[in-house]
Parts: sequence; structure tokens; C-alpha cells
Amino acid sequence: MAAPRPQQLHAVKGMNDILPGEVERWHALEAVVRDVVRTHGYREIRTPLIEPTPLFVRSIGEGTDVVDKEMYSFVFHDEPLTVRPEGTASVVRAYIEHALHTKEPVSRLFYEGPMFRGERPARGRTRQFHQAGCEVLGDPGPGIDAEMIDMIVGLYRRLGVKDVEVLVNSLGGKGTKARYRDVLVAHLEPLRSTLSDDSQRRIGMNPLRVLDSKHPKDQEAIASAPSILDVLDDEDKKHFDGLRALLDQLGTPYKVEPRLVRGLDYYARTLFEVRGHGGELGAQNALCGGGRYDGLPEELGGPPVPAIGFAMGLERALLAMPDTRTNADAPVLIAPLGDRAIARALVVARTLRDAGLTTICESRGGTMKAMLRRANAFGSRVAVVLGDSEIDRGVVQVKDLASHAQQELPESELVSAVRGVLASPVAAPKTGEGP
Ligand code: AMP
Repeated sequence: MAAPRPQQLHAVKGMNDILPGEVERWHALEAVVRDVVRTHGYREIRTPLIEPTPLFVRSIGEGTDVVDKEMYSFVFHDEPLTVRPEGTASVVRAYIEHALHTKEPVSRLFYEGPMFRGERPARGRTRQFHQAGCEVLGDPGPGIDAEMIDMIVGLYRRLGVKDVEVLVNSLGGKGTKARYRDVLVAHLEPLRSTLSDDSQRRIGMNPLRVLDSKHPKDQEAIASAPSILDVLDDEDKKHFDGLRALLDQLGTPYKVEPRLVRGLDYYARTLFEVRGHGGELGAQNALCGGGRYDGLPEELGGPPVPAIGFAMGLERALLAMPDTRTNADAPVLIAPLGDRAIARALVVARTLRDAGLTTICESRGGTMKAMLRRANAFGSRVAVVLGDSEIDRGVVQVKDLASHAQQELPESELVSAVRGVLASPVAAPKTGEGP
């Protein structure tokens, strides 16, 4: 009897492979993001994927979905650890740990990488997802707040994402937040019995979170809730008015949304979210979120520096972006005919690669037809064919797979001939002619 086949293993639910063919879009996105943040003076910081659990509990806050339900936490040799659900806490930890504030008055830091939250997977929502983000520590704003929002709008424009909507709000400083908490509790308490279980629980613990609820039962209470903008103190109001005036002067589109609170606890004053409405985006239309977190560095045992940051979801950016993939990097295919030609083909391939051309040598051999089929599958524009007769004469055949034209050349002219074909336009088929 045949042995049973070993059981196939699958990726963890909500965690995706990114395959060749798709990864090129990631590279293009990442290149634009890196270029935009570079021109704004941000420098990259890379922090570990795993951090002490208390870092996230203290910064993101208890009573938030992320901390209460979504963190990949475990104990390793008695130490509580968590696979990072977001980037800001780690960046602030590193900023404090390396005393960056003693080296520069303002730090502009950029990060990019995978984040982990055990959310219910849906289109645009995964358990391992990727964020790129920026943090500015040491600048109280509102100038930097306006610059950051303007940079993000410009970034999505460069990515070809149309219809982005920028929502801004102010949560005020500590005093304002506490005052608003009381006003909000007074509004929610009489409505308690109409609210979802989660929201009922949060009235006592973290009432601002109720405003973040998507539960249908909570929507009426949210719509009638008092606006936080009505309880801003004079300093908070000046800050928010300053931000709006700057955005107006920059011509950066935005909308004030007083019920925007967002899921993380550490925000204070400026808060913003960018939503998209096009492409393949479904219900998960939040492309990017951020805000000011002036109190966080001090709360984590660091200096009292003001700070602001944002994170954009890369999967969602890809869903919103147009697909502009081309075959630009399709390989040149070297097709050796016969065993003798294989060694020569490997040398020819090396010559093309040394000249910077992506090249695949079909050293498995095979028939000409099979090899050209392979070239088509790659989307190759050029094939280089060589057999015994070519080797004896020191020549190669360069085949333009679009026009089917073929030229025989000395090997010394190979690189320029291949470049010539790659640079030549593909002729449109004449009417009546097949593809
Ligand atoms: P946050 O860190 O929650 O402020 O999220 C910032 C951005 O990250 C969001 O606007 C999304 O674009 C993206 N994001 C957050 N959670 C997920 C997730 N589970 N799956 C995919 N993208 C996400």
C-alpha cells in the first residue's frame, strides 16, 4: 500500500504571501513612499518586531481593541512579549533609549514593515499587514502638523490615488480630554441601555472609544454626542485654528470631523485620517491615520517632547492605486540548442547580466519551440538562440519576439543588439493581421 501523502500546510489565517508578479507593485509603492519622505528630511529607523508587552499596553492603552483583543502576546522565559501591532510605540521607545533628543532638537523618523493584529480578516484587513509611517519628535506644531498632512496628500496623489478625503479633528490636551470625557459620559449614561455591550463597558473605562464604534446600536448616540471642539481650551483652540489656517493657505483639502477619535489612546490635539473611495477599496477605506501624541514620550519614561506621527496601510494603498505594472523587467531568454551550446549560453548570459540586463538561461535545454514558449510566458521581448553552427562561427541569433525579426551577429555585438531591440517600439499589428 502506498504511504499516506504528508499533510499540506497553509499560511496562518489573515497572513498572506506576496508572490512575484505582485511584489513588483510593492516595490513601486515603497519607492515612491521612500522618495517622498526623503525629500521631507525623514530618516529611516528599524526597530525589532517583538517588544515588551507593557510598551503597547501603556502607550496604546487598555480599553482599546488593539490591546484588549488583538495583540499577539506570549511569554518567553518569563518575559511578556508582543509582536508589534503598530510602529509608534517602538519608535518612541527607541528614541528614549538612545536619547535622540540630546543629539538633535527635532527628530524626523520613518519606518516601514509588517504589523500584527488579530482582527477578523476581510478585504483590506489582514492579521499581518504592512505600514509605512513617520514620526516627528520635538516640534509642537501646528506648522509640522500641516506639513505632514500636506505631504500625505501629495504622496497619495503621486501614487495615482484619486478621491482621497482628509478628516481632521483636535482632541485637545490632557485637560480638554478629561473635560470632554465627563461631558461625554453625561451624554452616554442615560442612553446606556440602548448601546452595544462593548460600548456599555467602555462608558466607565474609556468613553471616547464609544465614538469609534461601528455597531449599529451605537450610531444614534454617536451622532447626537456633543462635539469635542466645543470644549477645547484656549491653547488647544489656537493650535487647531493655526493648523486649519495653514492647510487653507497650502490649498490642502480637508474636512473637520469632530467625532473622529481613532483607535489608539495616546493621541492629543491634532488627529487626522485619510480615506479613499476608489480602486478596489471596499468598506475598509481608511488609508492612513495619525495625530499628535505630546504626552507619550514622557509617559514612557522619556523627556517631555511634543510629537506627531502617522501610519499608512500599504495593502490598502495598493488596493486604491491604479495597476501600472509593465513587462519592463522581463528577462532576456537564452535558448541553447544541444548540449554543447549550454556552456556557451551560460557565458553569454553572464555577459548580458554584467551589462545590467535581466537574463534567464534555459540550461535545461529542450526544443526551440518549448524554449520560446517559456520566453512568452515570461513576457520576454528578446531571445538569444545558439546551437552548434553558431558556436563554430562565433555568432548568436538575436530574436525580437514581438516582430519575429531575427539577426545574426558576432558575440561582441550582442549587448548593443539586445539593448537596441529592447528600446525599439513594438509595432502595432496591421489591420487584418493576427496578434
Ligand atoms: P492605525 O495604526 O490603526 O492608526 O492604522 C493606520 C492604517 O493602517 C490604517 O488606516 C490602515 O490603512 C492600516 N491598517 C490598520 N489595521 C489594518 C489591518 N488589520 N489590515 C490592513 N491594514 C490595516
